[in-house]
Amino acid sequence: MTKRELTDRQYLQLFKINENKYLIGIYQDGITIHKQQIRALNIFHALYNTKLKAIKDPGYTIGIIGGGVAGITFATAALEAGYNVTLFEKKSIYLHMQFGCDIRKIHPNLYEWPDRRYSNPYAELPVLDWKHDSASNVVKQILRGWETTKKKIRSKGPTGAYNLIEILSCDIKSIEQNVVKNKTRFQIKYETPDGWAVSGCDLLIFATGYGVERGVEEAADTPSYWRNDYYAQIELHAATKTYIVSGVGDGGLIDLFRLKIFDFSYEQLLDIIENNREYPDLLRELTRIKKEVLSDEKAPVNTFFRKFSDLNQSYYKYIFETIASKGLFLDNEIWLNDLSMDFEQTLDHKKISFLHAFLIFIFIRFGKRINLSYHGGLLVFEKGKGYLLNGKPVPENSFIIIRHGTNRDGSIPSFYFSGSNDASLKVIKERQEKYYNHGVVVRRWSNADLIAIFNPALNKRYEYLNAATSVVCTSYVSGLSNLIKNYYTEKANFRVALYRQIYVRGEYFFQQVTSYFGSEKPDGNNSIGQVFTIDRGNVGQSFTTGRPTLILQKEEQHFDALIRAMGLSKDLDRIKADKSFFTLPILAPVKGSRIAAANLVLSVESQDLAFFETKPGKDNIISLIIASTLGFVETISHHIKFNELKMADLDFEPLVVNNKLPPYFHGNPCFEDPCKAYTGLEPDKSKLKLGNFYSFSII
Ligand SMILES: Cc1cc2nc3c(=O)[nH]c(=O)nc-3n(C[C@H](O)[C@H](O)[C@H](O)COP(=O)(O)OP(=O)(O)OC[C@H]3O[C@@H](n4cnc5c(N)ncnc54)[C@H](O)[C@@H]3O)c2cc1C
Repeated sequence: MTKRELTDRQYLQLFKINENKYLIGIYQDGITIHKQQIRALNIFHALYNTKLKAIKDPGYTIGIIGGGVAGITFATAALEAGYNVTLFEKKSIYLHMQFGCDIRKIHPNLYEWPDRRYSNPYAELPVLDWKHDSASNVVKQILRGWETTKKKIRSKGPTGAYNLIEILSCDIKSIEQNVVKNKTRFQIKYETPDGWAVSGCDLLIFATGYGVERGVEEAADTPSYWRNDYYAQIELHAATKTYIVSGVGDGGLIDLFRLKIFDFSYEQLLDIIENNREYPDLLRELTRIKKEVLSDEKAPVNTFFRKFSDLNQSYYKYIFETIASKGLFLDNEIWLNDLSMDFEQTLDHKKISFLHAFLIFIFIRFGKRINLSYHGGLLVFEKGKGYLLNGKPVPENSFIIIRHGTNRDGSIPSFYFSGSNDASLKVIKERQEKYYNHGVVVRRWSNADLIAIFNPALNKRYEYLNAATSVVCTSYVSGLSNLIKNYYTEKANFRVALYRQIYVRGEYFFQQVTSYFGSEKPDGNNSIGQVFTIDRGNVGQSFTTGRPTLILQKEEQHFDALIRAMGLSKDLDRIKADKSFFTLPILAPVKGSRIAAANLVLSVESQDLAFFETKPGKDNIISLIIASTLGFVETISHHIKFNELKMADLDFEPLVVNNKLPPYFHGNPCFEDPCKAYTGLEPDKSKLKLGNFYSFSII
């Protein structure tokens, strides 16, 4: 099937049981925590556009069955948008699958590797955002976001009306669908430890998940994937223990790597592959292979294997030897098992991630050296006989790790879907399988779209901004604001804010990364994250030209014309009498080139006649602002040098500064070089340059 853009209605068809019932998943591939969140938000967004937006009934309620990551993400979006939500979860806590799991790490973008996007540790979601961490900590981050939304909706409105009902530890017994006065209403009958009850809703979202892995319940000693185990520790009693890892999917392979590699971590492995000096073209080769495979709809199952085999063989030796030099467990013996008799047929690009396929290809190649081998065939458990592989008993005392994927059909209680619903489920399955997309789950919204739905009163465009970036910049801007207050013994009217350059879907913007600080109280979070087109106003001038600007209203005969030329408006931008502006760009060299981009721009504005009016020299306000900014640049550079702070290394198109003054600035020394004109100093511009990065995003 072609990968054309689906309309909202077409997209919803992939998940629609009937007009008022939708299922998040469950036959599509790409079932990671992050992708389930994107899927939940895609469905919410499409439902909002096609149905929810038009609903005026204040009692309209969305019922969500399942409090895993998909259910809770959908619920958060619906609550943020102001709908009533009833959330049913059969366990006593949300996200119980991953809750308390300390042995697994979850990364939102690892599956993108070797694409650079993988290096972004943030999910970058407008609700329930999280950062790469252990599963238990990711759960904590998501639940913190959930609590924030709950607090927000609780404090909304004078009546304190609370539009969320949470029903935990519930056993749903029946779902009835009635049509009253042309309106569909569901009656959900359930039992909790408090007894029986019935709850009504108008739209029903099934977020019951993909189920638990098949076969785990029979293997008494194999914990399910998200339960804590001790595979990453050495066996205390047996001299050599045989582990049979059954299932060449991501789950099985992760366990195999944990059994073999000391302190298995993706960071370490990717560092070995990416930063090797001997084979600098390896990453490019891998990127090419992944692209070729994904663009070939008909690529046979063994395509990964074939393409890896064609690569320069010395790559493998190098990677294996480097991993081995960091430490491999040799005390255990591992059999890797899957149905196919031939290992070549197991590296199915539709089922496993590129990184895992590449690593296991290498490990099997050097298997003899590390007690690892592939044993194809059917592994079954028979009562009284134990595990049999191709009909023969497995070695005595083997430890079996079953990773066969989940039973998706079995994850939904049959009474939820019966009669015509049952047929719809089959249709969904067919449609999802037909729309196979290599597990790629594309966002159908931009952060700005969803933020605007969640808070239409904000009335401006907002884009994603991670908290770490904002926190670091805020400490500088608030510090500068206090220095300025201290500098002026009389109360001065002014405000300061910092902006960064961003690039979203092919467009340049600048984004406010701090609140305004100054003579008025900080304006809370309302201005953080808002974006403006890159050439707007005096801040935009500094982003596009890379030069500071100073505009003193009372000295400008053509002030109004100047404001208009910069795209500002007196009303919108609150420009009253005697407003003056100063902007100072912080540059960064563009990688591999001598040209620069304006990474950040500091803006200081005042409505005080005399704010910028101090004598040229060392002790004036502009010198103070420059000195403080140099301190900020020095701090960031220092932390980066000592690896205490990391900047995102993402694909980002920097807007290169053009160094040209627009014509309306010509002839005015303040614009030619305001810093020199006012301070009398030639500031060392190289000191206002950040290091070798241009996307100011602290990760
Ligand atoms: C072996 C394995 C390895 C994985 N590895 C990773 C990984 O490394 N990284 C990653 O991101 N993802 C991984 N995943 C995928 C991840 O587990 C799923 O994407 C995620 O859990 C799906 O979220 P969900 O909310 O759709 O379903 P679930 O997390 O299954 O949540 C469904 C919820 O619905 C509830 N529920 C079910 N039926 C009912 C009912 N009748 N009434 C009320 N409540 C009900 C359940 O109790 C549960 O809380 C892995 C999955 C498996 C099986």
